[in-house]
Amino acid sequence: MSQPNIALLGLGLIGSSLGHAFKKYGLAAHVSGYARSAQTRARAAALGFVDSVHDTPEAACAEADIVFFNTPLSAIKALAEKIVPTLKDGAIITDVGSVKAGVIGDIKPLLQDRVHLVPGHPIAGTEQSGPDAGFAELFEGRWCILTPEGDANLYAVETIANLWRQMGSEVEFMDAGHHDLVLAITSHLPHLIAYNIVGTAAQLENDTRSAVIKYSASGFRDFTRIAASDPIMWRDIFLQNKEAVLEMLGRFSEDLTALQRAIRHGDGDYLENTFTTTRSIRRSIIEAGQDVDLPNFGRDQRDASETD
Ligand code: NAP
Repeated sequence: MSQPNIALLGLGLIGSSLGHAFKKYGLAAHVSGYARSAQTRARAAALGFVDSVHDTPEAACAEADIVFFNTPLSAIKALAEKIVPTLKDGAIITDVGSVKAGVIGDIKPLLQDRVHLVPGHPIAGTEQSGPDAGFAELFEGRWCILTPEGDANLYAVETIANLWRQMGSEVEFMDAGHHDLVLAITSHLPHLIAYNIVGTAAQLENDTRSAVIKYSASGFRDFTRIAASDPIMWRDIFLQNKEAVLEMLGRFSEDLTALQRAIRHGDGDYLENTFTTTRSIRRSIIEAGQDVDLPNFGRDQRDASETD
């Protein structure tokens, strides 16, 4: 494909970052955009990460060779029902959704053979939302997981994989179910724990709550960053990845009960062994280049911190 026309459905953090990256690396002949509200569409036009902004998804996709879904998961099905019948022959649909089996279930039944589907998920993001939050470098040095099914069109798969590589990502292929299980423990459960601990603190009496905020740098603060993530996006993730999250939550609860018992019975060896193992996992993450070995999580060195 020479330079493709790319349509962005959803112009928030991820949609705007894609638009900026397409511009920075010269990856698209034309970038068209659609978002639900007039306010977001106006902001996208003003920021200039799209060449044209449209009031309907059908209009945004009319000339598209590639369509990116960058909306919350719950919006994808209705949008797909609108655009699929109007797409050009050979068009490729892809997405950035954080749960993959649900997206395939929503879109695949709508496709005739003439439109291709290559589901994707960039492991990159921040706790910010909206069109102003995006930046071209968001995907650089990050993984992008693609979950095409066995019968996917190879040309379409390579086209989407190359697009991500040109934006600086490393591409990995995975079965959708496996992706959802892995992300349940690496992303979804940590978010659930963060939402829960910050929620527990929010319900404390006023005096205690003030002290929690004052001394938050002792650990609590790091949970609040994750717990500030978009409520709609995370509602959809837990509803769509229900089975895998409940499976991981069950294991987590058992391990938490074991720690609770060790504390109750003064079993220092159990606690020390557990904490030694977890420390080595932190070292492996740094060795894998997924974080920096700097005090205070490198806060002074980094503008944006990653989630998801
Ligand atoms: P976001 O900043 O909140 O942007 C969402 C966009 O979708 C907005 O343009 C919004 O339009 C539009 N939208 C919302 N509901 C819609 C509907 N019913 N119909 C049409 N458009 C609608 O969200 P985001 O962080 O970019 O996340 C988008 C997707 O990326 C999610 O599926 C998420 O799972 C995935 N993802 C997120 C991250 C992350 O860290 N944030 C990382 C990887 C993947 P309005 O502004 O007009 O409401």
